[in-house]
Amino acid sequence: MTRSGIGFDSHRLIAGRPLVIGGVEIPHELGLDGHSDADVLTHAVIDALLGAAGLGDVGEHFPDEQEQWRDADSVGLLELALESVLERRFRLINVDCTLIMETPKLAPHKTAIRGRLAGALGLEVERVNVKASTGERIGFVGRGEGVAALAIVTLSEPG
Ligand code: MG
Repeated sequence: MTRSGIGFDSHRLIAGRPLVIGGVEIPHELGLDGHSDADVLTHAVIDALLGAAGLGDVGEHFPDEQEQWRDADSVGLLELALESVLERRFRLINVDCTLIMETPKLAPHKTAIRGRLAGALGLEVERVNVKASTGERIGFVGRGEGVAALAIVTLSEPG
């Protein structure tokens, strides 16, 4: 039997912060605002992973109020979430995700992001898919005010 979970996240773009997407720092004049490194794509994947296992959400596991998660590397949080999932003897089947960002273009960084996420999840890169979309110049993404991400994770239940 398989189980799937979805994830969604969004963060504001501001000056003076790095733009970290899927564990990869992308050169840009703006970065994502948040308590951790605000890695919007990784946060969506964490929520999808926790969701598939019935383990709540990223905010419950790594609360914003806790100083220990300030500027945290979100790929490290993903690894911690994965530990909780694997402890329950679930096995990862695949991850698919979409980043919705107006600028800069994600294309030059997709391979690196895919590799970083696959490495953190202990999956072959073929089981991790990274897609990019834009806001078509409408809404908060289209106006360049923020970035959003969606993810889905499928697990197999303990046999
Ligand atoms: Mg977030």
